Amino acid sequence: SEIIAKYEVMERVGSGAYADVYRGRRLSDGLTVALKEIHDYQSAFREIDALQLLEGSPNVVVLHEYFWREDEDAVLVLEFLRTDLATVIADTAKANQPLPAGELKCWMIQILSGLDACHRHMVLHRDLKPSNLLISEHGLLKIADFGQARILMEPGIDASNNHEEYSRVLDDIDNKDTITSTHDGNATCNTSDVDREEEELGCFTSCVGTRWFRAPELLYGSRNYGLEVDLWSLGCIFAELLTLQPLFPGTADIDQLSRIIGVLGNLDENAWAACSKLPDYGIISFSKVENPAGLEACLPNRSPDEVALVKKLVCYDPAKRATAMELLHDKYFSDEPLPVLVSELRVPL
Ligand code: ADP
Repeated sequence: SEIIAKYEVMERVGSGAYADVYRGRRLSDGLTVALKEIHDYQSAFREIDALQLLEGSPNVVVLHEYFWREDEDAVLVLEFLRTDLATVIADTAKANQPLPAGELKCWMIQILSGLDACHRHMVLHRDLKPSNLLISEHGLLKIADFGQARILMEPGIDASNNHEEYSRVLDDIDNKDTITSTHDGNATCNTSDVDREEEELGCFTSCVGTRWFRAPELLYGSRNYGLEVDLWSLGCIFAELLTLQPLFPGTADIDQLSRIIGVLGNLDENAWAACSKLPDYGIISFSKVENPAGLEACLPNRSPDEVALVKKLVCYDPAKRATAMELLHDKYFSDEPLPVLVSELRVPL
């Protein structure tokens, strides 16, 4: 086939629920690429859609080209990235040393830039975690694995230069029962044929993402969530960078919620006025936590500024979570110690 004529397939470098990833070599010039063979039509479609929309964003993995096969599998030709943030965290933890603050800030800024690009284009990633943040040998971090992504726009509307529209949609997501269009108020979650399943439900599924990074509204069954679910995940990732331990390593969905509640306290109307509208709010109830541990207790030996940063993301009310763009302008990143240059980062081999 065409792909075999253009690429040499080498060893397998990873596999996930719906995909196998191989290292490959472009025959025309010897460039090393990643060949991601996706066995699920919907997930392939989502990933291609999102990556095309995000083309040119420096902190999002580059899609060179893709092929559909007759069996409805797709093969994505991606830039090859040798490692990921999970490996950086694991290696640093093994060395029993914290990440130096300047390096920490450089990783965070790259994640924020990538996520800001996603959200400016109305791409909801829905599965952010350290192992989906890939890293090049030069220390460039790229958001990858858009197999669960959704685009919150009607096709044809370009959100990239339209911050007003961006914040309006964020408001809409918070205020309305369904995700609504930015243009005329018609129901929207952008919808290609493959998304018909969710569209027929009139909403999104709450069964997305990896449990440890899943926002509380998802754990309570929300179907009209928005970009803020990625911001919760981001907060969990930042906390993990700071402590080198997962923040909420739940062993099951109920355990996940009970860990969150043990730290933040019970989810009630004081924490998030609309919480009782969550589908499972009345179904999953927890006894009163009298003395929640607080995020400080999860971030021992970290500075008040660092704790404050995590608090801006890991909070119950989605509307109170800081956006990626707001955080990029946060004083934390312009305070000493300044972020190191990407070229100064230590990258695991
Ligand atoms: P899934 O959607 O099945 O989780 P991923 O995109 O996360 O698939 O890929 C699975 C694994 O393949 C990753 O954890 C990573 O090890 C490897 N991988 C994915 N994309 C690349 C890439 N561009 N370069 C190098 N390795 C990759």
